[in-house]
Amino acid sequence: MWTPVFPVNPAVLIGPAVLLVFSVAFVGVWFFDRTMRYLLVLSAACALFVLGASMQLFRWPPGTGPNALASGAVYTASVLVLAEGLLRRTGKTAGWAFHGAAFAAIMGLTVYFLYVTPSLSARIYLQNFGYGLILLIAAFRLRILASGTATERLVFWVFLVFALHFLPRTVLTAPGGAPITASEFAYTKFWTVLHLSLAMMGTGLALALLAAAVTDIVNKISMERDQDALTGVDNRRAFERKALALMAGTGRPVSAAVADIDGFKAINDRFGHAAGDKVLSEVGSLLRSSVPEGAVIGRIGGEEFAILVPGMDREAAYELAERIRLAITSLRFRGGEEMRTVTSSFGIAERQENEALWALIERADRSLYEAKRTGRNRTVMARPVPDTPQQVAGSAT
Ligand code: GH3
Ligand code: MG
Ligand code: MG
Repeated sequence: MWTPVFPVNPAVLIGPAVLLVFSVAFVGVWFFDRTMRYLLVLSAACALFVLGASMQLFRWPPGTGPNALASGAVYTASVLVLAEGLLRRTGKTAGWAFHGAAFAAIMGLTVYFLYVTPSLSARIYLQNFGYGLILLIAAFRLRILASGTATERLVFWVFLVFALHFLPRTVLTAPGGAPITASEFAYTKFWTVLHLSLAMMGTGLALALLAAAVTDIVNKISMERDQDALTGVDNRRAFERKALALMAGTGRPVSAAVADIDGFKAINDRFGHAAGDKVLSEVGSLLRSSVPEGAVIGRIGGEEFAILVPGMDREAAYELAERIRLAITSLRFRGGEEMRTVTSSFGIAERQENEALWALIERADRSLYEAKRTGRNRTVMARPVPDTPQQVAGSAT
């Protein structure tokens, strides 16, 4: 009988080696953002796979039956933990009942095909179809990702291909004909293809998941950098950056609105700074939900907001500002024992040709001052400024 020199084909070392690196990489990324706990679950899935492969490699525990059972249990756990990690990524879970049932079914059948009706082929079919099925169920529950951002779509499709690849590879490469021993099996084309394809697919999936995690972290960091924590709108610097980009990229009219809460100092003085903060955050979220897509909102002063709306002339911007101003009057905040209301004033200006951002905001701000001067709780539009000095001269004659 043929006896291999080395008990296992060296090709099977590639998968575990790569996944060991990924297991460490997932923990490494988790260090940057400890709230992303699913990365630890994914790391555990990789580590379990490496453990299962090592058990087969080093023939521990010894004996075909015990080894197949123990490594099978660890591989099955690895697949279940992988599915759990992907679900956790989107705030879902497979649940203990699912994990328990899937594990019991696969291990029960493994015992059956080891001791009751021994069949290596049946065990291979069982594991591959079982794993494919578990992962496909997870992929189905994650189908919403298919219509998400580019990274979400990448994760979804790579995961789906990974799940699906468990199904055909068994049929295409499972050994037919006479039953063979595990040692002979370890050198078959099937075994090599099985491990190389798993290594490739696993690498692809792990890379996609790492890319997604890094993208999430970068997005979160830039969000924290850009956002005003209290109101949720952009801070002054982010407002300026986004507003300049908006003005550079549009041939359509652009209008600016500057809003300021009326008598805000009195709210702070009478009801405390916390009450003032509450008003600010309420106004911030109202602004965010009231502006059209593509508009930029910034907190440019203590209780002063600037809004830049593309595609709106000053009349349209006036109507928008009036709608928001009225909506602000229906906000309620607790001041002392009672629920109270708050008002705001708006200044509007439409951008003149080649007008600089802060020149435009300055004109809107002058209209705001006018609104304050003439009684507050109102919106004032800036008159269009003459285009050129020649026109001024022309209109004077
Ligand atoms: P007006 O109607 O003319 O706008 O009067 P006002 O009292 O609203 O105007 P003023 O600019 O004098 O007051 C702004 C106040 O906003 C002063 C400052 O203490 C307060 N403020 C600035 N930033 C914050 C903040 O983050 N939280 C709170 N609670 N208050 C703030
Ligand atoms: Mg004010
Ligand atoms: Mg102010």
